Amino acid sequence: MGGGAVLRQSSAGQLGGSGASRAVAASPACGTAPATPTHATAAATPPLTPPSESHRPPRALPHTALPPSLDTRYLIGFDTDAMPTDRCSVLVIGSGIAGLTAALHASRIADVTLVTKSELTDTNTWYAQGGIAGAVGEADSVELHLADTMVVGQGLCDPDVVRAVVTEAAEALAELEAFGVRFDRGQRGEVSLAREGGHSLPRVLHSGDATGAEVQNTLSAAVRDSRRIRLVEDAFLVDLLTEAGRCVGGLVMDQGSHAVMALLADAVVLATGGAGQIYRVTTNPLVATGDGVAAAWRAGAEIADMEFVQFHPTALDSAATPKFLITEALRGEGAYLLDCDLHRFMPAVDPLAELAPRDVVSRAIEEVMHRCGRPNVWLDARHLGAEFLARRFPTITEGCAEAGFDLSRDLIPVAPAAHYLIGGIRVDADGRSSLPGLYAAGECAASGLHGANRLASNSLLEGLVFSRRIVRALARGPRPSRPGRMTATVGGSFGGDPRRVRSQLQAAMSRHVAVTRSADGLAQCAQTLAGLASAVGDLDPYALESRNLLVNAILAATSAQLREESRGTHFRRDHPDRDDEHWRAHIVWRRGEEPYLDPVESDWSGATTCVVPRHESDAGPRWGGAR
Ligand SMILES: Cc1cc2nc3c(=O)[nH]c(=O)nc-3n(C[C@H](O)[C@H](O)[C@H](O)COP(=O)(O)OP(=O)(O)OC[C@H]3O[C@@H](n4cnc5c(N)ncnc54)[C@H](O)[C@@H]3O)c2cc1C
Repeated sequence: MGGGAVLRQSSAGQLGGSGASRAVAASPACGTAPATPTHATAAATPPLTPPSESHRPPRALPHTALPPSLDTRYLIGFDTDAMPTDRCSVLVIGSGIAGLTAALHASRIADVTLVTKSELTDTNTWYAQGGIAGAVGEADSVELHLADTMVVGQGLCDPDVVRAVVTEAAEALAELEAFGVRFDRGQRGEVSLAREGGHSLPRVLHSGDATGAEVQNTLSAAVRDSRRIRLVEDAFLVDLLTEAGRCVGGLVMDQGSHAVMALLADAVVLATGGAGQIYRVTTNPLVATGDGVAAAWRAGAEIADMEFVQFHPTALDSAATPKFLITEALRGEGAYLLDCDLHRFMPAVDPLAELAPRDVVSRAIEEVMHRCGRPNVWLDARHLGAEFLARRFPTITEGCAEAGFDLSRDLIPVAPAAHYLIGGIRVDADGRSSLPGLYAAGECAASGLHGANRLASNSLLEGLVFSRRIVRALARGPRPSRPGRMTATVGGSFGGDPRRVRSQLQAAMSRHVAVTRSADGLAQCAQTLAGLASAVGDLDPYALESRNLLVNAILAATSAQLREESRGTHFRRDHPDRDDEHWRAHIVWRRGEEPYLDPVESDWSGATTCVVPRHESDAGPRWGGAR
């Protein structure tokens, strides 16, 4: 261990669970500056650029433009004087953890309208299994959580943002409990903490293996109970309205009648989630079509980091869509990955073995799949015992059973699946986008928390904390004046078959912009996507979603083409090394302008103090006494 940091660490630990012992190598986060990582994969990583060298001006990138048919300001024509119009103080779009939290907090200071395109609970949030990270354990600290996040983020995290989020975690999680979310607790009433990949110790609060559903259902009930939140379900945000360079509301289409109305607001909070549907194989539900990112793009907000898409290594390889996720917490409890010879391959790849960061595990799985000529590898949880598995992982047990597998007796076929959009609408530490009046929280935002790779279970936390911060910023800010009449005309009709467009773009993205990328594949993908841009169908929500998918896909594929290095979730076969000299920077886009590289300015040293407990229970209890 280098870096001159103080290190207090117990002897090699064991993860909790029935006998699944595993050497916990000195964590990469514990007392280690990123310059001297203990990760086998990170070992090739050069040190962070010293602060004096990192204050570089933005750099232009080669000329790149979206196909003209996608490069429009509005998707539909309208006249706000000739259509139903409503006003509110705060307009929140999206009903996952970010949107619900924003609405509940904003309702304390303002009247709120919450719009969601499907049912209230139809979100990525509902699907989350593993839990929410927070440095609440006895042996944990904000510094450790910060360090783990920074190491996994591979030089692109914003340390101020990371610090803000991990510091606020304990308070935000306590507030979730106050809303009624039940996290698992031990016999003494201490909160149970699970360990997931990239975390140096158990840190993930969970509600069995259905944490997302518990959070979603609890916050949804609170929103339904609130008299200050007007809830509009089955309403599709088509576009953001802007006047004089400020976001002043949104155009919303009813999913049934296709009638469009204008919702005017002093502030708009986008919480529209990710874009997993740009891939054929994804863990994301059908609502994850990147609408918020595309609408913000059309409205002129900055979009960043779109090349970074996290693949989850262990989705159940079945015919189902979306793919059923098998939480990392199962590997945290001791489940193994086996190749076609039933040989455990991860210990040879990384000292953290099955708990290495997700990009490392996903790439290793892909290599094994390629070597074995199979569409999957095996996940082996049999040694954990039927009783433990059913108690700790009821959702996984049931999901596997539905697909015909007995988790306690069978090897489970798993493969990587697109899981999390790291990039999105660029925001500051208070969730402010570059477009005045527009805020973004959760998976649709690029806040600088995740850098080039997301630390497991930091995303629910991001949505939770950023929404709170946005509302605090709104409470401080002045009230803008109300907009006047707004109109737009849109020329031409689109025609084409959005279903065909969707399936072709998903196939191209899964083939060329997935775990491993190359210049040739990316160029082929860009060509395919450009060819699809003129045939995305009519103006109903499905076709509009397809246009949004194309915008997200093209931004992701083109950014991946531009970034000629490998870092975090972005791995280029033709540029396999990390290149801090040229690429320790965010690729930033704004409609109508050339993309540019914004260098990361950070002097985070990585020095920290660390204790790695031997067992899950050693991590508590410090937070939230017995109930
Ligand atoms: C299977 C799975 C497991 C996961 N497990 C974990 C985990 O254990 N821990 C963790 O931290 N993260 C996990 N994640 C990631 C995490 O769930 C998401 O990143 C997070 O829930 C995103 O929350 P959000 O509020 O930003 O968006 P979402 O929860 O996806 O909500 C987006 C909302 O926006 C609405 N919307 C979208 N477009 C429009 C539009 N045009 N008009 C109106 N409404 C719109 C949607 O209908 C939805 O209500 C998991 C994700 C998946 C898919």
